Amino acid sequence: MPLFFTTGDRVLKIKALLFTSLLLSGVLAECLASSLAEQWSSISLPTYAINAQSIGTYNAGCISGAVSLPINGLGYQVMRLSRNRVYGHPDLKHAIENLGYTVTKHHLGSLLIGDLGQARGGPTLSGHRSHQTGLDVDIWFLLSNDAASRLLSFSERENWNAPSVLVGQSDTLDHTQWSEANVKVLQITAQLPEVDRIFVNPTIKRELCLSHAKQEWLRKIRPWWKHDDHFHVRLRCPKNNSYCQDQEPLPRGNGCDAELAWWFSEEAKHPETAKTPPKEIQLPSQCDAVLKQ
Ligand SMILES: [Zn+2]
Repeated sequence: MPLFFTTGDRVLKIKALLFTSLLLSGVLAECLASSLAEQWSSISLPTYAINAQSIGTYNAGCISGAVSLPINGLGYQVMRLSRNRVYGHPDLKHAIENLGYTVTKHHLGSLLIGDLGQARGGPTLSGHRSHQTGLDVDIWFLLSNDAASRLLSFSERENWNAPSVLVGQSDTLDHTQWSEANVKVLQITAQLPEVDRIFVNPTIKRELCLSHAKQEWLRKIRPWWKHDDHFHVRLRCPKNNSYCQDQEPLPRGNGCDAELAWWFSEEAKHPETAKTPPKEIQLPSQCDAVLKQ
């Protein structure tokens, strides 16, 4: 350690110290987040509650009284069974069953369902930041006629690929993977009153803006990074779930203008999430009781 150092040295040292502490706080936040996720993902059964309660926000919350979606139903089958993310609020189960029924009625093939949430919600070890309150579900764009006529095996559900509807990593829609049936499914989903919003790749939103700009339901279709092989359905907070926090209201309009243009800018290609270190997740205090029950 030198007895004295020049101003330049001092600035360098302060910078080094700041960088190290920033790095450590990032690492610490990541460790805390993963140990929290370990706790929540290790529980395999929901709590029992007569009235299910979604608690907190989509990115920091939990659920008491979750129900599991049966892995086979009319018009849908659940994929990736080994993940055991088949739990959600009864409203979510009802919405998926309702979609399966409607998709069958319109002969659109079978829905392939990805993740709902964990038995008591909360943060997951892999895959998502949200899906924590039992109100989110991922649904593949692939509408399987095969799955409409037979039950898929366990290994098919593990190993089938969710095909992207984009050409490579580009902003071009792959019309061998995308069809009017996909549009119809998004429309049916967006028109469910309990659906708050649906996240899709910006290219999909752009395609819908070309053909359906005047349709009221288009407002609920929100561009987001990735989401080129599945769409993410988010329900609004169910009635009488007083600890449940909705996301901010949807902006006015159909979202086809400047807002959509931003998604194709250079800035959007480098998502903010990559720049900021992960924050320590603070779950609402009501979730302590859900975890310990
Ligand atoms: Zn999702």
